[in-house]
Parts: sequence; structure tokens; C-alpha cells
Amino acid sequence: MDLTNKIAIVTGGATGIGRAISLNLASLGATVVINYHSSSQKAENLVEEIKSMGKEAFCMKANVANFSEAKNLIDTTIDKYGKVDILVNNAGITMDTLILRMKEEEFDKVIDVNLKGTWNCCKHVSKQMSKQRAGKIINISSIVGIIGNVGQTNYCASKAGVIGLTKSLARELAKRNVCVNVVAPGFIETKMTENLSDNIKNEYIRNIPLGRLGQPEDIANLVAFLSSHLSNYITGQVINCDGGIVMY
Ligand code: NAD
Repeated sequence: MDLTNKIAIVTGGATGIGRAISLNLASLGATVVINYHSSSQKAENLVEEIKSMGKEAFCMKANVANFSEAKNLIDTTIDKYGKVDILVNNAGITMDTLILRMKEEEFDKVIDVNLKGTWNCCKHVSKQMSKQRAGKIINISSIVGIIGNVGQTNYCASKAGVIGLTKSLARELAKRNVCVNVVAPGFIETKMTENLSDNIKNEYIRNIPLGRLGQPEDIANLVAFLSSHLSNYITGQVINCDGGIVMY
């Protein structure tokens, strides 16, 4: 895979899965715009790490849940590099609890970042990619957006919403040669899952056919494929990367 001369934006690109995606796209030759919200030091360190590999990167603060900040992220990238070839909507949060205890704000916040944030960035990049008659949008959902999960009514609703959004946008942009797909990770070892007790982790592992939790690089490899010309005939798909938990 060769992504030389490609311009990629990765939201929430400084930590966890986003970090692995940013590094992988850069190692394949892409110039990576690393979006962050609170992790400024991590984003700056990652830019330095990518530059030390002889590749180009740039980091930019934006709250993707905010319509105008998301617009500014896309517009600044276009001003600086003249185009956007790849958008990875990876930024996401959890605020888990049972619905009986969940506050309205905890529902709204998770929907705002995970679903509205994805829509905001898709909305602002669609005009440019349509004009280019080329582009790859990869939205990071989750297998729990397909199968549900106790304590995650807000998160699962947001991630299921990302799937519907993706399929609709894939149909809207197909004539412009823009491919829009979902990557649905299973349980991946990041900050998001580090607080799970060993008991819960072992229980998850028992239910994973491949017998291990995933690594951020497992997701990054699939994102790289969907960012490359090798996936030019794939759009509107939900591709699970979960060690076999969900099988249709
Ligand atoms: P993470 O917490 O390391 O990454 C999330 C990133 O999003 C962080 O850098 C965070 O600062 C950023 N972010 C949060 N709110 C933001 C906002 N408003 N604007 C911009 N950036 C914001 O966790 P992760 O596990 O790497 O998660 C990455 C993505 O993968 C998320 O969308 C998550 O829902 C999804 N996912 C993770 C798992 C898992 O097991 N870790 C499983 C399924 C899906």
C-alpha cells in the first residue's frame, strides 16, 4: 500500500486507536493532520515522532462536536494542503451506566461527540471530496452498535447512528467516487478499556474466537486498506475487526 501525496485527517488522532491509525497512514506515506481535543502534548509528540520517520504531520485542536470547530479543522487542512483524500472519524467517548442511573447530559454528550461529531466532519469534507471526485471516509463505530451492550445505551445508540449515517452518505457520494465505510472494532486494548477488571477482560476473552483482545494496530491495518486504492470498489460497508465475536 502506498499513500504518498495523500492528505489524511484523523480525529482524536493522538491517543489509542487514533494514534495507531495516524502512525500507520504516515508510515505508508500520507501527510497526517492529527486532530485532538484535550491531548495537546500527546499530539505534538506524535507529530515529532512522525517527522522523525521522515514523514509530514500537523496537529490541530478542535472539538468535533462543535459544528464550526469541525468546519475549521477541514477548512484549515484544505487551505494548508489544497485537498483532503482521507477522513477518519475516530474521536469518541464513553459515559457508561445503566439507563436507570444515566443522566440526560450523559446521553446528550456521548451522542454529541460520537454521532454529531462524525456528521459534522462528514458534512464539511463532503463538498471538497465531491469536487475532487475522489475520497475515502472511514467512520469508527463499534460492534456494540450492532449487538448492543449493558450500560451503554448512549454509546450503542451513537455507534448504531454512525452506521446509518455512513450507509446514507455512501449512497449520496458514490456518484462522486467517494467511498464511505465503517470499521467496527471489538474490544481493543486502549485507555477506553484499561479500567475493565481482569474478571471482565477474561470473560470477554472467553467469548472471542481468536482468544485475545485486539490491539490498536489491528484496527489501523484495516483503516489503511480502506484508505488505499485497494478498496476502491468497497463502499457503504460495515467491517468488523473483533477477533470473530460477531459473525453473520
Ligand atoms: P481513546 O480515548 O484513546 O481515543 C479517543 C480519542 O478521541 C481521544 O484522543 C480523545 O481525546 C478524542 N476525543 C474525545 N472527544 C473529542 C472531541 N469532542 N473532539 C475531538 N477529539 C475528541 O479511545 P480509543 O479506544 O482509542 O477509541 C477510538 C475510537 O474507537 C472511538 O470512537 C471508540 O468509540 C472506538 N472504539 C474503541 C473500542 C475499544 O475497545 N477501545 C471498541 C470499539 C470502538
